[in-house]
Amino acid sequence: MKKPTLAIAVPCYNEELCVESTVESLIEVLSDLMAKDKINPDSFLYLVDDGSKDKTWDIISRLHEKNNLVKGLKFIRNFGNQKAHIAGLLGAREMGCDCVVSIDADLQQDQWAIEKFIDKYMEGADVVSGVRNSRDTDTFLKKTTALCFYKFMNILGVNIPVNQSDYRLVSKKALDILAMYPEKQVFLRGFFNEIGLKNEIVYFDVKPRLQGESKFNYMSLIGLALNGITSFSITPLRIIAVLGFFMAVFAIGLGVEVLIEKYFLHTSPAGWATIIVLMAFFGGLQLFCMGIIGEYLGQVYREVKARPRYIVETELK
Ligand code: UDP
Ligand code: MG
Repeated sequence: MKKPTLAIAVPCYNEELCVESTVESLIEVLSDLMAKDKINPDSFLYLVDDGSKDKTWDIISRLHEKNNLVKGLKFIRNFGNQKAHIAGLLGAREMGCDCVVSIDADLQQDQWAIEKFIDKYMEGADVVSGVRNSRDTDTFLKKTTALCFYKFMNILGVNIPVNQSDYRLVSKKALDILAMYPEKQVFLRGFFNEIGLKNEIVYFDVKPRLQGESKFNYMSLIGLALNGITSFSITPLRIIAVLGFFMAVFAIGLGVEVLIEKYFLHTSPAGWATIIVLMAFFGGLQLFCMGIIGEYLGQVYREVKARPRYIVETELK
């Protein structure tokens, strides 16, 4: 395989504190890989400003003027991390490259692992997923919820390695497939494992965030998780059907029991407690099931509107 033109795509949202040092570090990585003759000299950085309200875009523009290795794209407003990732991948594809590595702007992910990604690519992998060695930098709550999420996704039949991140390399072939997907809510971690191209894993170390603060809160993480589940699995819908079946069997049994009580034991006026408990139970169950259906309805609603995934304000070439 011939050595690739590599694009490094970086989503940035209010990252004025780290974007400059991040660009310096990534240029160092690019230069190192060029010196080792592992990538083409027309490889580049592609920074996606996800509608930052601070000086992030000013800094990116200035860096672009200084060094043409730095390219960028600015969203008109904040569209969220997944959209910024997709824009990074598809934008770099448009610019012309053989593979793209996505990495976060805070460089919590060890940027020197990119060389290992390239090695796997040269061995024929189309998707190389970064998996963290540990979650030591996360809080206990984030660690456990993340683990539960990945396990749950695996149970639902979506194959994502536990502790995968959005640090990955994808080949031009994988990008061409992504470009064919019209859906707006692509959950990248699921997507690149599903398309059926050759997958490899690279382990990397996570560092604490040096500058700025995390842009994710629990609500946005729950949103990401729900989107991942509803856009990749219909198992929750099947669970409703199975639950409904067992509830029906249970209700028939209960009905028989009530009839026996009434006609043979003559003890029926008692049992208010049972009624109240059952009402509450079924009320809760129905709401729960409706909630699941609501999730899918939301997914259909978003896709059916077929709104553009994002709107670009400017692009630096
Ligand atoms: N990010 C983004 N749009 C958003 C939120 C985050 O592009 O609405 C970017 C952010 O700039 C960073 C990456 O997504 O490059 C990961 O975010 P962060 O480091 O805050 O998340 P964490 O590492 O805490 O999960
Ligand atoms: Mg981070």
